[in-house]
Amino acid sequence: APAEAILEVNNIEVIYDRVILVLKGVSLSVPRGGITALLGANGAGKTTTLKAISNLLHAERGEVTKGSIVFEGAEVQNLSPNDLVRRGCIQVMEGRHCFGHLSVEDNLLTGAFTRRDGQAAIRDDLEMVYNYFPRLKVRRNSQAGYTSGGEQQMTAIGRALMSRPKMILLDEPSMGLAPQLVEEIFEIVRKLNEEQGVSFLLAEQNTNVALRYAKYGYILESGRIVLDGEASALRENEDVKEFYLGVG
Ligand code: ATP
Repeated sequence: APAEAILEVNNIEVIYDRVILVLKGVSLSVPRGGITALLGANGAGKTTTLKAISNLLHAERGEVTKGSIVFEGAEVQNLSPNDLVRRGCIQVMEGRHCFGHLSVEDNLLTGAFTRRDGQAAIRDDLEMVYNYFPRLKVRRNSQAGYTSGGEQQMTAIGRALMSRPKMILLDEPSMGLAPQLVEEIFEIVRKLNEEQGVSFLLAEQNTNVALRYAKYGYILESGRIVLDGEASALRENEDVKEFYLGVG
């Protein structure tokens, strides 16, 4: 039997500024405990898809005009982003979005804002985050804005972890990072998936690395899914090789 889906996106359409149709019927599903990649070139609509799920489109004058988004069996389109975080689904935005003037540790602590349990549990989770990202422990008192790009990406993921998510929507984690650091971050994603059971929807332009860590992938072109399949099959697919893996 197919694994239960933690997230289902059913045929969504997204329009910006009331007229610009950007997603033209996107459907995808992420199994509970899975790592699923959403692939495609710059401008294909990956970020728009993640923001539609997290309900972050309003600030950009975008709206979902068709379709449904179901997280753990419940329609979530009318939830605020914070309510969705409380239910266990959180987005890590592209470009990292740390609070540059706060310390790394204070950035992490801001990630616990939706929680109602006590300080002791939050401290425990801070240690859990440092356990996954030892570099952040070293840099805990540094102003986040002065840490490296890789450290800021780690801070952004660590901050999301502080909300105790069941699912993370991770936008373009490889962006602007050296290959070795990209591997380091993806290895941590894999560990979080295996050890904490966090499900991931991973938007990436770096098809090569994403298909090594994801189990399943969807390829988005101009607002439509044009191909999907097991990561191993996509890696062998001739079109994927030619257009996305740079092997053509
Ligand atoms: P990137 O790698 O740049 O994030 P992407 O695949 O995530 O690319 P989106 O950022 O979702 O793509 O953009 C998809 C399309 O929507 C692009 O053509 C973009 O110009 C358009 N778009 C994005 N945001 C807006 C907006 N606020 N208003 C109008 N059009 C927008």
